[in-house]
Amino acid sequence: MYILHVSAECFPIAKVGGLADVVGALPKYQEAAGFTSKVIMPFYEKKFVTQYDPKTYTKGNLLLGLEQYYYEVLEYDKKILGFELFLVKIFGLTDKEEVYGYHYDVERFTAFQKVVADFILEQKVKPEIIHCHDHHTGLVPFFTANCYKYQALKDIPTILTIHNGQYQGNFGFDKMNYLPEFEANKKGILDWNGQINPLAVGIKSAWKITTVSTSYLEELQEKANGLEGLLKQEKEKSIGILNGIDDKLWNPKTDKYLKANFNSKKLTERNKNKEYLCKTYGFDPALPLISFIGRFVHEKGSDLLAETINYVFKELGLDVNIFILGSGDKQTENSLNEIKDTFSGKYNNYIGYNEELAHIVYGGSDFLLMPSRVEPCGLNQMYALRYGTIPIVSKVGGLIDTITDFDTNENGNGIVCFDINVHEIGFAIKRAVDVYQNTEFFDRKRAEIMDINNGWKKSAKEYIKMYQSLTLKLKS
Ligand code: ADP
Repeated sequence: MYILHVSAECFPIAKVGGLADVVGALPKYQEAAGFTSKVIMPFYEKKFVTQYDPKTYTKGNLLLGLEQYYYEVLEYDKKILGFELFLVKIFGLTDKEEVYGYHYDVERFTAFQKVVADFILEQKVKPEIIHCHDHHTGLVPFFTANCYKYQALKDIPTILTIHNGQYQGNFGFDKMNYLPEFEANKKGILDWNGQINPLAVGIKSAWKITTVSTSYLEELQEKANGLEGLLKQEKEKSIGILNGIDDKLWNPKTDKYLKANFNSKKLTERNKNKEYLCKTYGFDPALPLISFIGRFVHEKGSDLLAETINYVFKELGLDVNIFILGSGDKQTENSLNEIKDTFSGKYNNYIGYNEELAHIVYGGSDFLLMPSRVEPCGLNQMYALRYGTIPIVSKVGGLIDTITDFDTNENGNGIVCFDINVHEIGFAIKRAVDVYQNTEFFDRKRAEIMDINNGWKKSAKEYIKMYQSLTLKLKS
C-alpha cells in the first residue's frame, strides 16, 4: 500500500509544533511496517534544503485567480529521512523562510494544494491513500472528490487528521476563483458561515476524519471554534488515534543534544543535564526544577505563567526553580521577562525556539508544567515521561489519555491539575515540591515513567487498520 501524507510541516525540514513531529515520524514507522509512505509539503528556505541535492520530479505553471506562478516539485531520496519526500517550490509563494504568518498564506497554501493534486494526477503509480493533515491541506479531499480536472482521483480514499481544530484557514468567496473548476452544486461544501473554511471543507469531504487523541475527538463536539455542529454531524466517520513519539529520535540513551546520556537503570548521569541548566540559568541544583516548553498561545495556558510564578514565590513561598522555554504572544513574552530580576536565581527563561535546548530541558528538569486549556494530543508530556521528567498537566485532550494523577496507592505517572487558574496551578506545583522531597517515591517514579511505551508502533498499526478498511471497502 502506498500512502501519501500531505502536510505544511514535517520534522526536520520545518517545525512549528507537534504536527511536524508526527509527520516526520509516522511515515518512518509505516515504511518499517512494510508500507510505502511518502510526504509532500511546501518548500521553505530552511537549513534542510541547503544540505541536499534533490531531483526535479516535475515542474509547471499554475494559475491562481489571474496570477500565474512557476513551480517545481523536488524529490528527496528515501535514504535521507527513511521515507521519500517531495517539496513543492512555488516561486513567489513557497520559496520563503517561515512556515506561517505571511499576509498571502491563503494564496501559498491554496496554490500548494493545487500542485499536490496535479502531482498525484501525474504520478504513474498513484497513492492508495491520501492522508491530509490540518487545514492547510483540507481542500485536497474536495479537489479529488469534486473537481473536473481530478476526476481520475475520485476513488482514492482521503483522510484528514485534525491536529488542531482552532486554526481553520478561512477566506472569502471572492477568492473562490483560486480553486479548480468544480461541479456547481458542490459550492455548499465550501461554505461555513459565509466563508470558505478549509478545515470544514476537509471534514465534509474526506472519507475519514481522525483526531490525535480520543478525548480530543469528544471535546471537539463541544468546543471546536465554531465547527462543533459539523463534527457532531460527521461523528460516524471520525476516530481518535493517539499520537506516538519517535522513540529513536527521542531516546535519552542516544540523544545527541543531551549533555549526558542516561536510561532508567543509569540515572545518575542524568544529573549532568540538570547541572548544565542550573549553571546556565543561575539555579540551585538542590531544588526541584520545573519547566515549561511551548508556544505562547491561550490554548497552552501560557498567559497564566507570569502570575503563577509570582504566586508560587510570593504567596506560597516555595523553594523551587522555574524555567520557561517558548515564544509567541508578545504580552506573555514581556510579562515573563519583566519578572526575571525579581526572582533571579529561582526563575529564568529562554524566549525563542530552540530544539537543542528543548531536549536538554526534557532531560534535565524534574517536572514539566503543561497548564493547557486545549491539548489535542500533546507530545511534550510523552517526551517528558521518556526523559524521566514528571508531567504536571491539566485535565484536557490527550493529557487525559496519557497522564494519570498520583494517588494514595502510589499509582499514576504525573500530577493532574483539575482546574486551570493561578491557584490550582500553584497548588499543583506545591504538590510537585512535596513529591520531590519524598526522595524514595520520586526516584522510583522517575525510573518507572521512563519505561512507559508511548512509541508509534501501536498507533501506526491503528492507522494502517483504518486505511485497510477504506481500501477493502473500495474492492467490495
Ligand atoms: P503543539 O503542536 O500544540 O505546539 P505539541 O505538544 O503537540 O504542541 O508539540 C510541541 C512540540 O514543539 C514539541 O516537540 C516541543 O518540544 C516543541 N516546542 C514547542 N516550543 C518550543 C520551543 N520554544 N523550542 C523548542 N521546541 C519547542
